Amino acid sequence: MNKYDVAVIGSGPGGYVAAIRCAQLGLKTAIIEKYSTLGGTCLNVGCIPSKALLDSSHHYHDAVHHFEKHGIGVDGLKVDLGQMISRKDEVVSQTTEGINFLMSKNNIDVYQGIGSFKDATNINITKEDGNVETIEAAKTIIATGSKPSTLPFITLDKKRVITSTEALKLKEIPKHMIIIGGGVIGLELGSVYKRLGAEVSVVEFMPTIIPTMDKMLAKELQKSLKKQGMKFYTSHKVTSVTNNGDEVVVTADDKKGKSVEFKGDYVLVSVGRRPFTDGLGLDNVGINVNERGQIETNDHLQTNVSNIFAIGDVVKGAMLAHKAEEEGTMVAEFIAGQKPHINYNLIPGVVYTWPEVAAVGKTEEQLKEEGVAYKSGSFPMRALGRARASMDIEGQVKVLADKETDEILGVHMIGARAADMIAEAVVAMEFRASAEDVSRMSHAHPTFTEAIKEACLAATDNRPIHS
Ligand code: FAD
Repeated sequence: MNKYDVAVIGSGPGGYVAAIRCAQLGLKTAIIEKYSTLGGTCLNVGCIPSKALLDSSHHYHDAVHHFEKHGIGVDGLKVDLGQMISRKDEVVSQTTEGINFLMSKNNIDVYQGIGSFKDATNINITKEDGNVETIEAAKTIIATGSKPSTLPFITLDKKRVITSTEALKLKEIPKHMIIIGGGVIGLELGSVYKRLGAEVSVVEFMPTIIPTMDKMLAKELQKSLKKQGMKFYTSHKVTSVTNNGDEVVVTADDKKGKSVEFKGDYVLVSVGRRPFTDGLGLDNVGINVNERGQIETNDHLQTNVSNIFAIGDVVKGAMLAHKAEEEGTMVAEFIAGQKPHINYNLIPGVVYTWPEVAAVGKTEEQLKEEGVAYKSGSFPMRALGRARASMDIEGQVKVLADKETDEILGVHMIGARAADMIAEAVVAMEFRASAEDVSRMSHAHPTFTEAIKEACLAATDNRPIHS
């Protein structure tokens, strides 16, 4: 029987990063993945394919709506959805093959099959042909991720009533896509099909879209997406979904309790994701799971069985690839005897719509709730030369800083390139910068990052230069 210092179950961004870090630290490591490709949700049916389609559809949308103004004529512009999807597939396979390369470079043994605990140190791996191989591991890291969740009364036929996974490989552009859930995934995939010409209606239970983010972002994003033609029905509680084949009917109660009906050809159910532990044999080792199905862990991401750890979407916290990666690194270093640490307050959140939305730290609503005395400075993108040059004038940056100390407590931005720009705020906050610190740092001109400097000037003593 093969013996390892560490076995990792699941090869998503949590699992494969944990495996690499373990190997870098000299631990003999195995990774177990049930699918034939490595990379988990993120690389196969999540972050990477969705961004590939967002980028393709963004090019098309730009060509239709903005090229003429830039003085570029395009005759006979058309969408070839098949080609768009196959380019996305190529991006996915290049990326997942990259993980195979990293596994072999780091001498990590890859097992394909379903990993299941026989006991606390022995893991059965059930192969596709039904054969079972057992390996022994002194420590195990569970990184089995999550699956799309649904509502109890919805039957996902995966043809007309679909999840994000099917939405990444549709064969036609929907005429009317009804999206249940105005969170990140629904808005990103809704943007893809809206840009390609579909009618898109978003039905959201909460009063705002992206409900966990700062309310300014929700308001601004909804305004922008509405301008692009998306329709929003917030404070609507979906009560039924009827699938008539080519037509799907969604009914919902509006905020006054009146029943309204939406008819479309596709319904995308994007109401969140649930931790995935099926088939892991957690009961065989007595690992505790909470009422939400998440594996319970302590601050070191250790389960109640001390040699078994859990990371990523399968434990509490934001369901994000970079959060899973940080946890993978942290557990590997902890196992190797180091004292790693994650600042969960500084895990950024991003929505890859256009304009993009990005945030880190506390929202204004959280600061109010916590009774923290804060000040706020905002700067509109439209006041930037760079924004006017590229015609990406929507959005703003908002900086929240402690009223007394001026320490930055939260940064919330919507606008072009916000997804990349948020890194500056993360660095500043990691080093506990004040708004004045950032406002006194040179920001290249003309760039979108100048909006961060200006918002910091506004937060420091309300003296932005350009607005
Ligand atoms: P996963 O990536 O889910 O990987 C778990 C792996 O474990 C899977 O490969 C699974 O097959 C395997 N597995 C499960 N059980 C077993 C078993 N018993 N034996 C062997 N293998 C097993 N996050 C971002 O940060 N940025 C984004 O832009 C982003 N976009 C997204 C877009 C979409 C459409 C979706 C669905 C998600 C997106 N996410 C994004 C979320 C991100 O994909 C997840 O947070 C991330 O993949 C979680 O990583 P993980 O390692 O915990 O689990």
